[in-house]
Amino acid sequence: MHLVMIGGSDAGISAALRARELDPATDVTVVLEDAYPNFSICGIPYYVSGEVTHWRNLAHRTLADLEAAGMRLRPDTTARRIDVPGHKLVVTSADRGEEVLGYDKLVVGTGAVPVRPPIGGLSGPDALGPDDGVHLLHSMGDTFAVMRTVEQAAPASAVIVGAGYIGLEMADALTVRGLAVTQMEQLGEVLPTVDPELGALVHAELTAHGVQVLTDTTVQAITRATPGQPGRLQVQATAADGSAVTRAADMVLVVVGVRPETSLAADAGAELGVRGAIAVNPGMRSNLPDVFAAGDCVITHHRLLGVTYLPLGTTAHKQGLVAGENALGGNRQFAGSLGTQVVKVFEQAASRTGLRDHEARSAGFDPVTVGSEADDHKAYYPGSHRITMRVTGDRATGRLLGMQLFGHKNAEIAKRIDIAATAIFHGMTVGAVSDLDLSYTPPLGSPWEAVQMGAQAWVRGTRLR
Ligand SMILES: Cc1cc2nc3c(=O)[nH]c(=O)nc-3n(C[C@H](O)[C@H](O)[C@H](O)COP(=O)(O)OP(=O)(O)OC[C@H]3O[C@@H](n4cnc5c(N)ncnc54)[C@H](O)[C@@H]3O)c2cc1C
Repeated sequence: MHLVMIGGSDAGISAALRARELDPATDVTVVLEDAYPNFSICGIPYYVSGEVTHWRNLAHRTLADLEAAGMRLRPDTTARRIDVPGHKLVVTSADRGEEVLGYDKLVVGTGAVPVRPPIGGLSGPDALGPDDGVHLLHSMGDTFAVMRTVEQAAPASAVIVGAGYIGLEMADALTVRGLAVTQMEQLGEVLPTVDPELGALVHAELTAHGVQVLTDTTVQAITRATPGQPGRLQVQATAADGSAVTRAADMVLVVVGVRPETSLAADAGAELGVRGAIAVNPGMRSNLPDVFAAGDCVITHHRLLGVTYLPLGTTAHKQGLVAGENALGGNRQFAGSLGTQVVKVFEQAASRTGLRDHEARSAGFDPVTVGSEADDHKAYYPGSHRITMRVTGDRATGRLLGMQLFGHKNAEIAKRIDIAATAIFHGMTVGAVSDLDLSYTPPLGSPWEAVQMGAQAWVRGTRLR
């Protein structure tokens, strides 16, 4: 049995590791177009900030670890064409030219690429790029380009276009690096994946650390500064009232989301679904015989929403495992995402799982969201922090549908949202969250865990159970 994985990131490597784990006799080849297999691109902001001191430290596993697991790696090799009936993959590389690899089963893990928004100066023959200090950010190659700008051009200021989680992490990172950061976001509040009430708290944290945050601000163009103008670049934007906003900057980072990279699979006849991602069933099978796909290039099965597109590293790992197991003949199913995520912004963290009010409504629920606060541990023990919570439940059934948390980065915001994720996964009601037997000691918690107090506030506020 020869398995070929395309893409050496979370999905491709997870599939390869699972196949080798289940059957060490399986021949596994991973084709990757760069030279950085199994790198944690989620850690890029912390390398840019300097907290991770060497890019090599971002590797989940070293090349030697991967080879010891028994997979054959083909770095700097691009998959060009899938011959589905012939079970062949055409690849090219600088040293070997074009080659044809036979496969029994194929796993497509081509991931996502950053969206290049329609901003003047970002495309066309005279497009600005890394040499001008204008960057997109997704791959290790993009990271090296950012670091060249940071280290060689010694920028004093940066504009970050976009205030999603990567934009926020990079605002933190570049501020830690000593740059004066301006963040421009076209929506009304930063971190639009949480309710504006929590987004406003994130906004305040950015401002407290010197980031100039411009919401309701749509970037129109990036141009080279002319002699006499400050900075290396000029960013032109429009505010909500139509007025012009201009900022000078030495570097610009455009981080406005990703789109699935599906051209290879689509050219081979793969059916596409939501947001143009490859349509797969929960077994990660595409419509093409013996072709599986996983990670940011595929649609996401969501436990409450049905089919959506929610590209996340945690999901790519799980889907990759399923694809690797099933490529060997297994029958595992991806259990479904809840979109559980967390982001650290300076000293604070924001997290969410499940659905917000409007998402729940569009999925046919009758949601009600109640906000509350609780301490992360008994306030009489030093160092306690307030946690702001938003709990969403279904009025008709009392079912817990979603939770959002904001609080200090040491207040276990990530692990607390995981309590809610576990409860939603198992279909619990909001009221039943209070019945969970959770741990307590005053320096670390309270007899009623904060998440349980959030659930109780929902029950009190709605008079439902
Ligand atoms: C800065 C940053 C921070 C992030 N932080 C988090 C986080 O905190 N938590 C979280 O859950 N997620 C996070 N993510 C998202 C997470 O990294 C992705 O969801 C995850 O990496 C997706 O893995 P993947 O294997 O599907 O795709 P990718 O990581 O996109 O990898 C796909 C790989 O396939 C290769 N490839 C594509 N086409 C070909 C071809 N034709 N031939 C050969 N190779 C090809 C690409 O070069 C690429 O290396 C972050 C992403 C970024 C950029």
